[in-house]
Amino acid sequence: MSRSMPVVWSPETRRHDPRHEVWVGVATPATEVAERVDAILSAVGGRELVEAEPHGVEALRSVHDPALLDFLATAHERWRAGEYAELVGQDRVTPYVFPTPAMTAGMPTRLPAALHGLAGVFGYDTMTLVGPGTWQAAVAAADCALTAVSLVKAGVPAAYALSRPPGHHATPAGYGGSCYLNNAALAAQALRDAGHDRVAVLDLDAHHGNGTQAIFWQRPDVLYGSLHVDPAAGWFPHVVGHPEETGGAAGAGATRNRPLPEGTGDDDWLAEVTDLVDWVDAAGCDALVVSLGVDAAAEDPESPLQVTAGGYADAGRLVGGLRLPSVVVQEGGYHLPSLGGLVAAYLDAHDAAAAVR
Ligand SMILES: [Zn+2]
Repeated sequence: MSRSMPVVWSPETRRHDPRHEVWVGVATPATEVAERVDAILSAVGGRELVEAEPHGVEALRSVHDPALLDFLATAHERWRAGEYAELVGQDRVTPYVFPTPAMTAGMPTRLPAALHGLAGVFGYDTMTLVGPGTWQAAVAAADCALTAVSLVKAGVPAAYALSRPPGHHATPAGYGGSCYLNNAALAAQALRDAGHDRVAVLDLDAHHGNGTQAIFWQRPDVLYGSLHVDPAAGWFPHVVGHPEETGGAAGAGATRNRPLPEGTGDDDWLAEVTDLVDWVDAAGCDALVVSLGVDAAAEDPESPLQVTAGGYADAGRLVGGLRLPSVVVQEGGYHLPSLGGLVAAYLDAHDAAAAVR
């Protein structure tokens, strides 16, 4: 059996074209673009390519609220029928009001009748618009992660899911942070369903994976560990991702956050990767999901961390050294010229470390 991870992908993931994000009220060019898929494919050429198998919407209910799935599946068609494009020139589903506790103040509320009101019930920021093809691409990204799990179930030591759009900011009932469906959480749950007793999600993305943390917050059977630029220093997702968050109820102790200062480079970043790997090792996990965001790289426009391709290779060595059945799921990474090389650096080192006996 080949010791290099197969790459699971789907041409459908190219169908989501965010075009722009609305940030502080201004439309800025999107960075989570379809070209990311091809930038990664061109750098992982020597690997076996596997096209994702459809798993159906039912599979998505293992971590997501059916109401979120119903909304995302139909929102863009309903938006088009609502003539928003004709009225205000907006052809993407865009929230404008958010029923936060500041608004609802503990009162009983109803779901908004208007789609532009409903959008803020499920979408929690203005950067993550729903356009034509968004749902199809998000489902395909989830199918990539679930197909990677199927390969591992069939005996492949590790598989890489080229999931796009990314997923780790998607919560049980909410989308945001350029994420719609939580691909890594779906993979972790599928590994549990396949009989693994304790699964770890190791999140290397530059940002805290608030969605994954939320999904497994109260569960002892799926660990969530993340290192990321410090939300307390002013970074997305702003309100969570702090060290005192260690899990709730039965999940107490199963969450670990390692926020990092702006400008953190390889040495300090790798020290925290080592800490998280040791934590997973000591916890007796029998399967692993890696949320592989490469936006901690120095060149990346979306974070102030300063990790190099050599740093990502060292992370691959550390994580691969766990020698656990692994599903590596793509998260962020937005500098198109270096994106593929960063992913390949991680995958090559992970494979090499996992193969050592
Ligand atoms: Zn990120």
